[in-house]
Amino acid sequence: MCQTEYLFKLLKWDQTTGPIPVASYMRQCLTSDLGGYYTSTTGSEKDQFGVKGDFVTSPEISQVFGELIGVWVVAEWIAQGRKSEGVHLMEVGPGRGTLMDDMLRTIRNFPAFAKAIEAVYLVESSPNLREAQHKRLCGDNPLQQTETGYQSFSQHSKDLKIVWTEDVRFVPKEASKTPFIVAHEFFDALPIHVFQAVPPAPQSSEDSSTLQTPTGPIPAPKRLPSAARQHQWRELVVSPKPPHRLIQGEPEFELTMAKASTPHSLYLPETSARYQALKNTDGATIEISPESQTYTRDFAIRLGGSNPPSPNPQQSPSSGRKVPSKPFEEPVLKPQPSGAALIIDYGPPATIPTNSLRGIKSHTRVSPLDSPGTTDISADVDFIALAESAINASPGVEVHGPVDQARFLAAMGIEERVAQLVKRAVDRERGGGVEGEKEKLTELVKRVEGGWKRLVDTGPHGMGRLYQVMAIVPHTPSKEGGARRRPVGFGGDVSF
Ligand code: SAH
Repeated sequence: MCQTEYLFKLLKWDQTTGPIPVASYMRQCLTSDLGGYYTSTTGSEKDQFGVKGDFVTSPEISQVFGELIGVWVVAEWIAQGRKSEGVHLMEVGPGRGTLMDDMLRTIRNFPAFAKAIEAVYLVESSPNLREAQHKRLCGDNPLQQTETGYQSFSQHSKDLKIVWTEDVRFVPKEASKTPFIVAHEFFDALPIHVFQAVPPAPQSSEDSSTLQTPTGPIPAPKRLPSAARQHQWRELVVSPKPPHRLIQGEPEFELTMAKASTPHSLYLPETSARYQALKNTDGATIEISPESQTYTRDFAIRLGGSNPPSPNPQQSPSSGRKVPSKPFEEPVLKPQPSGAALIIDYGPPATIPTNSLRGIKSHTRVSPLDSPGTTDISADVDFIALAESAINASPGVEVHGPVDQARFLAAMGIEERVAQLVKRAVDRERGGGVEGEKEKLTELVKRVEGGWKRLVDTGPHGMGRLYQVMAIVPHTPSKEGGARRRPVGFGGDVSF
């Protein structure tokens, strides 16, 4: 069954299913095993990345990108006292494995750090991309299936284990470990819910005789309670277009507003003061990605340990009796926070994303509702929401940034690294070149310099401006009167 057929079944305009939240639509189209954009195994020759694919990402534009991320991780490891063991290198959504490959090549120049790495963990939902990553990082070393996923060994270091899981929860979470986590263009692929603030129905209108609730309309009391007279958040949902509105060549689905509150619209927009502040603005539209927040929460706990369990017993909703609060998951007690997470993605640095759901096909922007399963769908990342969820999840972490990619890469020394690569190529050419090398010097210089310029372009649509970088690191209280430590790229210096 193809994705469109399946969605039609799911969304069938009947009483049992009906329209679905944007988040369910995204999940279905991107990573469902029924032919999601990333998880489809049918067209395995299809590559999402590169000139022939749908989009190009920074690691695919220039090797320097991954090298500088590698340097950032090494600099953090040094700043945190050079742990000699127990380092976990993690990447979520590693694509073709290019970023991790460039990072590992750089890390090999720092043998004490390379030795401290116990394993590399890759969280990847796509079987095809897992295969591409394995090939890139492990060459001919066999891929073995394990209880939680797959594993192999690096082609450059036979002791370096590379482990794949589909879910971050399968990556061991131990207080004694030091995780360095990278997420590049991962969060934009995670599902969002979309809500719009609507004014209360006027008392005099015909509808005032009924009140919409999650279970349908109910007769409205003569005098509505004050909550029903306030603005409400309504969820935007995906539904099939009614036959009379279908136009050949246009999407068969459309975004509509849910007729009544949904469990999500009653709960999610109340989870932060940032959303609450917009509730009384007619038509305000906000995007919330609970799944993204679950990830940053997970990262924060890995770095800084969980919050201590609440000492106050809670009231049981069923019996009304006081019961001790029981955590949903094993707490991670980490007296000494360690590690770091680096998140790079596109989205507004300070505001809540709005109307950002987009489809990309062959480098062109298309409707996200077009050709479900074969169009890339993404949305802007809400950096402040990610920061909030990390800080709320762990007492041991702090957040730096977001800063724009141009500033971050400049601070990491991109210009110097590019100059070094160009000089090396010129010297090699002067020395007679290397036999069998295909690329001409002029082409190489053009590629390396062109890649650099593209990554730091601060024009209106430039990657240097649109992409933001944010770091979660162990909390270091500022010494009396002194400044807080700042990671490299966020105002701090590299000290080797
Ligand atoms: N970081 C890479 C790839 C970005 S594309 C780069 O910059 O080139 C997004 C990546 O996240 C792909 O590898 C995709 O398969 C993976 N992905 C998307 N949703 C996922 C999910 N829910 N769980 C795990 N991996 C996911």
